Amino acid sequence: MEHLTKTYKGGKKAVDDFNLTVEKGEFVCFIGTSGSGKTTTMRMINRMLKQTSGVIKINDQDINQLDPVELRRKIGYVIQNIGLMPHMTIRQNITLVPRLLKWSQDKMDRRAKQMIKLVELPESFLDRYPSELSGGQQQRIGVVRALAADQDLILMDEPFGALDPITRESLQDLVKDLQERLGKTIIFVTHDMDEALKLSTKIVVMDDGKIMQVASPDEILRHPANQFVEELIGHDRLVQARPSITTVGQIMLKNVASTTPNKLLKDALREMHERRVDSLLVTDDEKTLKGRIDIGDIDYHYQTATSVGDIMHHDVFYVLSSSLIRDTVERILKRGLKNVPVVDDQKRLVGIVTRASVVDMVYDALWGTDSNRHSSNSNDTAEKASATTSQGGESK
Ligand code: ADP
Ligand code: MG
Repeated sequence: MEHLTKTYKGGKKAVDDFNLTVEKGEFVCFIGTSGSGKTTTMRMINRMLKQTSGVIKINDQDINQLDPVELRRKIGYVIQNIGLMPHMTIRQNITLVPRLLKWSQDKMDRRAKQMIKLVELPESFLDRYPSELSGGQQQRIGVVRALAADQDLILMDEPFGALDPITRESLQDLVKDLQERLGKTIIFVTHDMDEALKLSTKIVVMDDGKIMQVASPDEILRHPANQFVEELIGHDRLVQARPSITTVGQIMLKNVASTTPNKLLKDALREMHERRVDSLLVTDDEKTLKGRIDIGDIDYHYQTATSVGDIMHHDVFYVLSSSLIRDTVERILKRGLKNVPVVDDQKRLVGIVTRASVVDMVYDALWGTDSNRHSSNSNDTAEKASATTSQGGESK
């Protein structure tokens, strides 16, 4: 596909300068937000839609110069919720396309048997009607129907979208296995990143008609091209895929100066003095973060208030220990905070990040994208962070 563009009537540019090469035998997944142009692209490949501009070639031949019948002989198309024809037997369903292509009866019968064997269903099922099969079995037939005509290229547009996870997974295995064994080229649309990661040799991430990234599953996990791709992959998968990636928890200081709401102001003051800090975080007995108290507040309220709970600030900005440093830095810097408490997913205080360690984070975020350097940097960072002066010791 070269400079492929589709503008619908009314001016919606659904596909915008799309460039992609698909090699024979590849399993390519299109993934992206709804409305990003995936279906439009698929339909142009099959000539169900005509592009506004650009070229699609198959084996170096412009598809617009091919006879449409010839083209569809080469391309299979599976749409969402693979509908089997209810009034046709399984055999007739499987050989639907071969019949359109005018295969001999003998060849079609042989193909039907071969296909039903591929999906590990008994031959006797060939004479049943779809309603006599379970939903999962029907879907399996739908998949082999796409393969039955022996087309080289198969387009599948969210074929498993509406299936339960178990059926979905077994059909994914089936398609992947058939694709590898039969050497088919598949272009597959999904909105499920797990599905794309599992099936693809190449993932094409789309947003608003444009390609955001084309890469192997491994590459996309290690080097997402931009924030959109990162968000699509999701935080958990990124951290799993890149053990070297730095989370806030990895660079925070763990020995946090804290107090509880029931403590007297003079105790809090003593704690600050001993720890040589000018503020304390306030937690309850379960370590849940409740607030913060500053030296200035104690000074101001010393005559009127008695306990920490009376004067603490309840509204404290905090970050999760599992959050990615890159996502966190900007938020911390923007607020001009000198330090930020770190909590676990139960909002229990587990550490603190100081402005000094934020400097390291920025360094890391800017220079640490190379994976080798990233891992060595994050070690450095951890050491530097723990050597930093006590929390909040530096003035604003
Ligand atoms: P996807 O399959 O990625 O969800 P589509 O290719 O279906 O996206 O749609 C891409 C964009 O084009 C969307 O904004 C959609 O609303 C618009 N669109 C799709 N089909 C038509 C059409 N026939 N006429 C006008 N706009 C359309
Ligand atoms: Mg679609």
